Parts: sequence; structure tokens; C-alpha cells
Amino acid sequence: MRILIAEDDLTSRRMLAAVLGKSGHEIIVAVNGVEALAILEQPDAPKLAILDWVMPEMDGLEVVRRIRSQQSPQPPYLIMLTSKGEKTDIIAGLDAGADDYLSKPFDAGELRARVEVGRRIVDLQAALFESREILAHQASHDALTGLLNRRAILERLHAECARAVRLGSQVVVGICDVDHFKSVNDTHGHQVGDDVLIGLAQVLLQGVRPYDVVGRMGGEEFLVVAPMDACTNPLPLFQRLRNRIASHAFGTRGGQLRVTASIGVACAREMQPENLLATADRALYQAKDQGRNRVALADTCPCASPPRSIWSKPK
Ligand code: GH3
Ligand code: MG
Ligand code: MG
Ligand code: MG
Repeated sequence: MRILIAEDDLTSRRMLAAVLGKSGHEIIVAVNGVEALAILEQPDAPKLAILDWVMPEMDGLEVVRRIRSQQSPQPPYLIMLTSKGEKTDIIAGLDAGADDYLSKPFDAGELRARVEVGRRIVDLQAALFESREILAHQASHDALTGLLNRRAILERLHAECARAVRLGSQVVVGICDVDHFKSVNDTHGHQVGDDVLIGLAQVLLQGVRPYDVVGRMGGEEFLVVAPMDACTNPLPLFQRLRNRIASHAFGTRGGQLRVTASIGVACAREMQPENLLATADRALYQAKDQGRNRVALADTCPCASPPRSIWSKPK
């Protein structure tokens, strides 16, 4: 592993580097506390550091204090190196946030063993961090399509609504529902239906702008949250999405399939997210009632100019 050795004394530094280098570690060297801190603050910093207590510019204890005040998700394992064998000093070092200490002159075997303990802790911490990341991803993403799940997209909607109020802009939502999806399942099987949903998620993602968010609300229903300037007409975005879906050949394990979708759109400058969704849902029903494969815009949209419903004939 990569290890930082921060030690102003050349002889001691060389001995530390020789012992740890022999064990296969990659050694990075700092000759004072300021240098050590700068290295530990880099994005790809070594995860284990041996810090001499007495160093010019900034002592090892201060380096430990500063690193511990930063509360990084994967903090480094810090070993204090001290000729101060006094118990009170050792306690001060551990209290400041050091994980371990080594007394100078150090014993090579003890150094290797303590670094090994540190490596185990660092590895455990990395594994824990990774599984936390995986769990966080699973908690916010839909397992089938990889899109944000219902909870996560609704969280984003709430955040975007709050931002729109602050900025005087609008939030536009589009609920996109596959037309006659039940018959896709009934005709081709559930797995083929799944493939269509996976493909549809990609079509939506590729069709929106970088600052729009797409999530799966459940079943064959998707939500697009699009922040826009107050007087932007929201229809072109959703018309484009509807077009892309209707003209896409979805690759499935049962061969290529075509589907259409209806989209209910609502926008608001100051509306509760729940009301915005309910309004978009009503527009969706309107789009379905009017024949599907179309975009229907809710009457409440302030910047909507007629026609409020744009469609094309299903293929
Ligand atoms: P409409 O045009 O009115 O929306 O008709 P529809 O058939 O799409 O709507 P309906 O609500 O009757 O049927 C939705 C279907 O979506 C029924 C359900 O089995 C299917 N479905 C829901 N979730 C999934 C899924 O994860 N995978 C697959 N393959 N099908 C799903
Ligand atoms: Mg020193
Ligand atoms: Mg449907
Ligand atoms: Mg539905």
C-alpha cells in the first residue's frame, strides 16, 4: 500500500523507508508537517501515514488534529512516531486522533507489525465504505432500469421545486406511461416487457438535457423533472421524448419491438410537488383518453400556448 512517511530526520526517514519498502509498500516522503498535511489533503492521498512528532513548520500532533477535523469518509490511519516515551504524550497523541504510536528508536519487526494492523483497518474501512456506497445506490435506484427510483426522483422533485421558488423559475414534470404495455407482456412475455422498460429508460435518459432528471415511478410509468426558465414552453422537450420513443426499435430477447407512450405534463412556479404530480397525472389521463401516443399539457401551465395537446397518429 502507499504509505506517507513524514520525518525531518534523514537517518530515521531512510530507515523507515527501507523497512517498509522491503515489505512491498510504496513510500511517499514529507520532511515537515506542512508538506505532510498537503499530501494527506490530496484527493488520492495515502491511506496510512507515519508522522514524526517533532518536525519543523508543523508538528505531527497538529497534522493529526487537522486531518481529524476534516471528517473525510475514508480517513487515513495515522501512526505517531515519537521519542517522547512519556505516557502523557502518548495519551495526547491518541486523544488528538492518532490511531497508534511507535517509540523511537523503532524496532523493524514492530514497525512492520503495526503497519500491518493499520493496513487491516484501512482495508476494512474501504470495504465498509464500498458496501455503504452500494447500499446507498441500491436505496435510490431502480434495480431493473438503473434510473432513480420513486423515492429518489420525488426527493429531486422537492429539491427542484424549492430551487424554482428561490430563482423565480419553473419546474416542469412529465409523467410518461407506456401505451398498452399489458399487451406487450401478454403477447411477448414479461421478460420481453422488462427489456422494453430497460430500453425506454435509456431513450428517456438520452433524450433529456443534462440538468433534467429521470426516474421510474413504478411499473411502466416514468417521471421526468425538468427545471426551466419561467417562460419556456415545456412542450418541445416532451414532444421530442414521445417522438424518440415512438420511432425507436427496442431490442429485446424476443426481437425488436415498437411501443408508444403518452406523457402528461404540468409546470409550476409555485406549486406543491404533490399537486404538480396530480396535475400531470390528470394530463396523462387526458392524453390516454384522446387516443394515446401524445403529450398533454395541463391547463394550469402559465406559459403554455395552444394547442395544449400535441400528438401524432400511432404507427
Ligand atoms: P395504458 O395504455 O392505459 O397505459 O395501458 P397499459 O396496458 O400500459 O396499462 P395497465 O396499467 O393496464 O398495465 C400496465 C402493465 O405493466 C401491467 C403490468 O403487468 C406491467 N408491468 C408493471 N411493472 C412491470 C415490470 O416491471 N415489468 C414488466 N414486464 N411489466 C410490468
Ligand atoms: Mg523530528
Ligand atoms: Mg401504460
Ligand atoms: Mg401505467
